[in-house]
Amino acid sequence: MANDTLLQVRDLRKYFDIKRGFFWGEAAKVHAVDGVSFDLTHGETLGLVGESGCGKSTTGRLILRLIEPTSGEVTFDHVPIFQADKAEMRRLRQRMQIIFQDPYSSLNPRMTVEQIVGEGIVIHKLCQTKAERRERVADLLQKVGLSPEQMNRYPHEFSGGQRQRVGIARALAVKPKLIIADEPISALDVSIQAQVINLLEDLQEQFDLTYLFIAHDLRVVEHISDRVAVMYLGQIVELADSQELYARPLHPYTEALLSAIPIPDPTTKRQRIILEGDPPSPIHPPQGCRFHTRCHKRFDRCDKEEPALREVAPRHWVSCHLY
Ligand code: SF4
Repeated sequence: MANDTLLQVRDLRKYFDIKRGFFWGEAAKVHAVDGVSFDLTHGETLGLVGESGCGKSTTGRLILRLIEPTSGEVTFDHVPIFQADKAEMRRLRQRMQIIFQDPYSSLNPRMTVEQIVGEGIVIHKLCQTKAERRERVADLLQKVGLSPEQMNRYPHEFSGGQRQRVGIARALAVKPKLIIADEPISALDVSIQAQVINLLEDLQEQFDLTYLFIAHDLRVVEHISDRVAVMYLGQIVELADSQELYARPLHPYTEALLSAIPIPDPTTKRQRIILEGDPPSPIHPPQGCRFHTRCHKRFDRCDKEEPALREVAPRHWVSCHLY
């Protein structure tokens, strides 16, 4: 593991058992995450993008060990987290935080903002006195663009954007190194999405944070990400530096996702690629390339042989038989 690597994910898998009907007996498995590998270096932002159900949020939860993996390894700051005992895990959790998608359900409605933001400070004993804790909460609220006077209020007294700011302050309170932002703006009005993205960028610089930014839309991660990984049916199908991926997408799935993004310049035309049908069931992923049932470039080999994720240009990885 290189010195500047904060997080290393190797061949991560999560299969959920689902019960079949009474007569079938045997349990089927949902292949939610199926062999995901990537690294995150200190201070970078990796955008993890794909349609709903592709396994991106499950990947985030596995990294935080909120759920246990079927197999694979995650190493955070040189510590293999799936081997960590409870005490070690508590220490690691202080440095790995999550911001949830839904600012309405992720905050306890019976707690004040002071209690919500201060909870982690208490758990990890980061302040000696109540006054010190209050001061820290006030400072955090200011850093996320809220007023310290609002600390005695309850979540329902805030707008969606303000609640997400509370969620961000709660994550920051324990001085994390890594933040997993799980679709942090998709429940917000378009008008305030950019404000929250800008805030996250400012905080990254101030606090030297590393982000795994999960989104279902390539447009959302374009400006915040240094690199982008595209997921399809539990696997990463393309991973590249952000500029490279948007300028030269190689995987037909990435091409299709990008073609759906409107270009602001009316003189530039991009052909819209319509994806055929819905993603196949993760219970029985297709043989060969998992994308072949919807791919506009498929050929003979695609339904027989599974392509490996390969580095086809410097720092540009793709799993497709065309490369
Ligand atoms: Fe399409 Fe074949 Fe490439 Fe899969 S391997 S993305 S089906 S061209």
